[in-house]
Amino acid sequence: MKALTFQGKERVQYIEVDDPFLTGADDVIVKVILACICGSDLHAYYEREKGLDLGTAMGHEFVGEVVEVGKGVRSIKTGDVVMSPFTTNCGTCFYCKIGLTCRCTKGQLYGWVEKGLGLHGGQAEYVRVPLADSTLLKIPEGVSLEEGLLLGDVLSTGYFCAHQAEIKTNQVQAVIGCGPVGLMAIVGAREQGAEHLYAIDSVEERLAMAEKFGAIPINLKNQDPVGVLKEKTDGRGVDSTMEAVGNSTAAKLAYEIVRPGGIISTVGVCNDPNLSFSPVEAYNKNLTYKVGRCPARYFMDRLVPMVQERKYDLTSILTHRMKLSEGAMGYDIFANKKDNCLKVVLEM
Ligand code: NAD
Ligand code: ZN
Ligand code: ZN
Repeated sequence: MKALTFQGKERVQYIEVDDPFLTGADDVIVKVILACICGSDLHAYYEREKGLDLGTAMGHEFVGEVVEVGKGVRSIKTGDVVMSPFTTNCGTCFYCKIGLTCRCTKGQLYGWVEKGLGLHGGQAEYVRVPLADSTLLKIPEGVSLEEGLLLGDVLSTGYFCAHQAEIKTNQVQAVIGCGPVGLMAIVGAREQGAEHLYAIDSVEERLAMAEKFGAIPINLKNQDPVGVLKEKTDGRGVDSTMEAVGNSTAAKLAYEIVRPGGIISTVGVCNDPNLSFSPVEAYNKNLTYKVGRCPARYFMDRLVPMVQERKYDLTSILTHRMKLSEGAMGYDIFANKKDNCLKVVLEM
């Protein structure tokens, strides 16, 4: 089969690789229909996270049709059109039972193979899905393939980010970063009751999108977010802030704009060795800091009704569509924000 593979820093290549095959009774093989490029793929692309084997099929956002089923698989059948969270999960371990499916003791992240071990990704013609019964969901009626793609990661992650921020309607919140995840955090926060919601970025088009989803934009290029937000909160700062960037500048900004006793909810993946605020700075603000990977499988079924309602034009964040064979160009356009690119869909 053909796949978009990691070939070193800022190099992905569309090449012929081995077909995946069933390795365990609970595996299925999915013929991918659509896949997406994610901000998280850029950590591997820029080698901010090291260790990925050359030749690994990239990507963790895909939807497709089940074409082969392991002997032990019960609920998923050949021909099912499915969506997947970006990590696999068993559904029965301690973490799966408490809803922290992203920390499943048997879970794996798609698109991460290190020293030969791990799981290839969904930016490929076929992908192997272990723990298929507890990982995959059949795409329900009233949910499009593209919406299924968003449920598997960015929509669930954005919603989770807002959930961690403990949104209260009469309070003030800010989202830092208006990429796909930040925009979906705006949707999540609005769904959870946010009415005084700000969105910070420096890209005009992304801020316009943030406004469309219901946030008040603050442009870092010509506005001072700390000054603006303190003015809106009697000098205190926001009650909670959602950080969807993944660098220390954004993390520091989150600290600066939050009030004493407030919450920072971080979903951005920051590979720096230290936090951007010190223990005593956190102490001096009585800060609550919540951070981590989204348990997407937990949120996916819960968010289906919201998607079916079509209250938000969620798929408007999918700005670019191209063939999997053009994926290397897709990475370049997405990584460098060319042509106002927000998110790239790859079609087989
Ligand atoms: P993206 O790169 O498309 O978006 C990031 C946005 O942040 C951009 O619009 C950029 O202009 C803006 N930005 C950069 N520096 C900023 C700053 N200092 N202040 C304000 N805005 C700034 O990425 P994305 O796909 O939206 O993903 C965002 C982050 O979320 C990434 O780190 C990604 O790895 C992470 N992520 C985490 C999870 C999880 O489970 N926790 C899941 C998916 C993605
Ligand atoms: Zn993703
Ligand atoms: Zn588990």
